[in-house]
Amino acid sequence: MKKISTAVNWIKDNGLFPDVPIVESAHAPEVIVNGKKVLLFATNNYLDMMRDERVVKAAEEGLRKWGIGNGSARLLTGNLDFHHLLESKIARFKEREAGLTFVAGYMANLGAIPALANIFEPANLIFSLGKIEKNRDTVIFSDEYNHASIIAGIRMSKCKKEIYRHCDMDDLEERLKQYPLSVRKIIITDGVFSMDGDIAPLPEVLELAKRYGAMTYVDDAHATGILGKNGRGVEDYFNVEGQTDVVMGTFTKAFGGVGGFIVGSQTIVDYLKIQADSYIFTAPIAPPVAYGLIKAIELVAEETWRRERILSNAAYFREKLSEAGINFLNSQTQIIPIFIGDEKKAILASERLLEQNIFVPAARWPAVPSGKARLRVTITSSHTKDQIDHFLEHLKVIKKDLKF
Ligand code: PMP
Repeated sequence: MKKISTAVNWIKDNGLFPDVPIVESAHAPEVIVNGKKVLLFATNNYLDMMRDERVVKAAEEGLRKWGIGNGSARLLTGNLDFHHLLESKIARFKEREAGLTFVAGYMANLGAIPALANIFEPANLIFSLGKIEKNRDTVIFSDEYNHASIIAGIRMSKCKKEIYRHCDMDDLEERLKQYPLSVRKIIITDGVFSMDGDIAPLPEVLELAKRYGAMTYVDDAHATGILGKNGRGVEDYFNVEGQTDVVMGTFTKAFGGVGGFIVGSQTIVDYLKIQADSYIFTAPIAPPVAYGLIKAIELVAEETWRRERILSNAAYFREKLSEAGINFLNSQTQIIPIFIGDEKKAILASERLLEQNIFVPAARWPAVPSGKARLRVTITSSHTKDQIDHFLEHLKVIKKDLKF
């Protein structure tokens, strides 16, 4: 206990404890925080699906028909019909053969990565009387800025890992080269990086994977519904659809709900059904949310103006930041970091903005490397130009005061 209180006190004494504001209304460009109306630049509800009337109506239907829960994990209590429908909807949206849903995106990575890294040998299964022998002979190649859930999945796999420099294809190749073709390899990358807003060089990753015989796995959490001609995500953006072996995503962002998914071949999905612990041993997405998501996927596919708006809003904001000499790293998307560096200064900047009724979180260690703190701005399809301009005016003043 003493060690724990020492750790907590140290964080608090150094002004680093997250003082998370209490939000009292649903996510929209304006929300109520501590009783005050504030402008929100902190949500992954990118396309405003979270409280869309049609989505809410569908969720109500799910609630009335099924209640709030599922009874248990699917293998024990049966596949409720709407989970099947949701899986076929997301597979169709991503133009893949099959889909599998998880209770969270985090759980999708936590289940799928160890399962795909440790393929059991049927012979071992039989001769070890039910105990599956894991080979742990796969090497996982992972971008250094991959999401925490990927890092957790890799850790759980207990396989050898090679962390390559962020989006650095030379470094990735150097690392791939060290292993003979006979060694099983998986390359894992975010499609859009969650703290930097830049896009992984997927065609190059695919090319290297082909050359060195690696399987590919993309976490498309932030690109799904947003990037590409049809909003299908990072593969669509680069015109390499169907070329990544496994695509993971989340329902928490463009679709406005909660839950995660994997799409790929039927074989991959069938395999995960027997090997991904976070699918097997936990209850799935709750009925109202699943019903809402089925509607949200249809709307995201049909209402193309939403992704056009979010991308033009984000481009406008980045252009204004450039004019003001504000460092937004290499962002190319709706995630736009305002780089500050110093942790305390980033927290102060976030506090100063909240005083002006603008809510932007400070992202800092362990979400980003120590000394690389930033304001993590997210732009949505429903922000207006006036709201973005208002934010910029305050940001410029704070930048001058705090000298970042
Ligand atoms: N992958 C990435 C890249 C993410 O940014 C996130 C969440 N921010 C997740 C996975 C986890 O998704 P979820 O919130 O659905 O658990």
